[in-house]
Amino acid sequence: MTRLIFLGAPGVGKGTQAKALSLSHNIPHISTGDILRTAVEQETQLGVKAQSYMDRGELVPDQLLYDLVHERLKQPDAVGNGWFLDGFPRTVPQAEFLDKLVAEINQPYSRVVNITVPDEVLVQRLLLRGRKDDNETVIRNRLRVYYEQTAPLVDYYRAQNKLVEVDGDKTETEVRDQLVNFV
Ligand code: AMP
Repeated sequence: MTRLIFLGAPGVGKGTQAKALSLSHNIPHISTGDILRTAVEQETQLGVKAQSYMDRGELVPDQLLYDLVHERLKQPDAVGNGWFLDGFPRTVPQAEFLDKLVAEINQPYSRVVNITVPDEVLVQRLLLRGRKDDNETVIRNRLRVYYEQTAPLVDYYRAQNKLVEVDGDKTETEVRDQLVNFV
């Protein structure tokens, strides 16, 4: 049983690392980006509301995330094995929501992993990834949004003594070797 939040700018490797550790340690990988992309593909009500924000590299309004995260954390696999949260929270209100929720459902977590990579390396990585929202204008916007809205979470979690730092400007294996210490 492990509960861990993965924090970091787009392209730091949160998703790749969380997915790999999820498979090796049998801990659910919960990516709000993946959940939202599926909703967009399936043209659900949530997907229709989220799509234009995602296409521009903006954050989807906080309110749209709350039910989704609550429902996901209540699933038996998360209750039983814990979670790797990837892409949530992304704003201070989302972090406050999460802290209230985990208190209510008794799913405490003690660590937030902050993965860091220099900006220019991130832009190059994201351009290579080639996802639908990975053209250069949108990438630069996602980075700006990250620094404005998500980076304040670093201080939020540092103040709670939960923050651990991982250097993401390394090979996938080297990053993983740093991360396994926290799983
Ligand atoms: P990601 O796969 O984590 O890079 O997320 C892709 C996109 O989904 C983001 O650029 C946002 O538009 C949206 N998204 C994912 N997670 C969140 C979140 N916690 N809050 C708001 N928007 C989100």
